[in-house]
Amino acid sequence: MSKILVLIVAAGKGVRAGGEVPKQYVSLAGRLVLTRTIDAFMDHPLVTGIATVISPGDIDYYQSATAEFGEKLLAPIDGGKTRQESVYNGLKGINQHQPDLVLIHDAARPYVDRHLVDRLIEGLTDHDAVLPVIPVSDTIKQVTGGIVEKTVERDHLFGAQTPQGFKYPLILDLHKQAENDKTTSFTDDASIAEAAGLDVYCVEGSIDNQKLTTRRDMEMAELVLAQKQKLETRTGSGFDVHRFEPGDGVVLCGVKIPFGKQLQGHSDADVAMHALTDALYGALGEGDIGTHFPPSDPQWKGVASSVFLKHAVELVGERGGKIINTDLTIICEQPKIKPHQPAMRAELAQIMNLDAHRIAIKATTTELLGFTGRGEGIAAQAIATITLPAIGEPEDV
Ligand code: MG
Repeated sequence: MSKILVLIVAAGKGVRAGGEVPKQYVSLAGRLVLTRTIDAFMDHPLVTGIATVISPGDIDYYQSATAEFGEKLLAPIDGGKTRQESVYNGLKGINQHQPDLVLIHDAARPYVDRHLVDRLIEGLTDHDAVLPVIPVSDTIKQVTGGIVEKTVERDHLFGAQTPQGFKYPLILDLHKQAENDKTTSFTDDASIAEAAGLDVYCVEGSIDNQKLTTRRDMEMAELVLAQKQKLETRTGSGFDVHRFEPGDGVVLCGVKIPFGKQLQGHSDADVAMHALTDALYGALGEGDIGTHFPPSDPQWKGVASSVFLKHAVELVGERGGKIINTDLTIICEQPKIKPHQPAMRAELAQIMNLDAHRIAIKATTTELLGFTGRGEGIAAQAIATITLPAIGEPEDV
């Protein structure tokens, strides 16, 4: 089986996207462009290694972009003054791994999909050089001095993409020759093969495999990604108990219910809201109330528990998630919960910014059994269901 390496060219200073940071290190919907580009090849079963050509000054950026990858990611290689020089450095740099085939790819194209990589690899079984192309859809004019000279017949015009695939020893040789000849004007690697008189075989490119050049490209890409981002459904459970002490009422779901006792606790002891809050933290995998609001910290003494619930709801939002529904059960003999359910539901709906029909509040006794049955305190349990953007990438983006 052929040994196939990917060489990603990320040495460009690429300030055309408008920022201070080279565009391959800019965040795109929460992940750096280079991270996405490398990741697009990571899981391909036929790709044995991925090396990146970088500008030596960008090593810190590179390290943060690649921290998540394992051994399939090879050591970075220092780029040169031009794209062509950078690719040549990269080709020399991966020589120690003795690849049979190399796919040379621009870092600013993070949307390579597996099928495109498959087409390239398949093309390389019978050809020395393989280029992905897409048909030109605009009518093309040849213009000189602001005046149209002619309309160019577009049937034979195609846009060239990367990755471009080559027999490794051959493309290494061609780059070496180009350097010896001091020909430095090649803007892609297929051009070098063409100039050497080789047949460059074309395969179908991918319309999604766009090069991110301008700030607008980045903004459009963000929108597309947000739409394609897969969501996953998560559930969390919460459980809490507070004991009674002498007092004049209990607070449940933010509603004060007059009663001959109150609940003991560091905050307002809203046992129901605590269970619900913990269910949300649970769905996020983010600890519990005690993690975020340590009882040892005096600033939370006597605080309204809506502070905790609001925090959990905000965390869901920060993670790009959404609450689907919550279901809460309050367990006690007394006070009677039912008359207060509408007010409690309205309170939770307001805090969670959620329609009341997505919020269930139930109450039960324990038939006089156990600590709740003996009226020593109140227990509450809750389940929350949320959606979150899936960790990892949807396939074929
Ligand atoms: Mg509690």
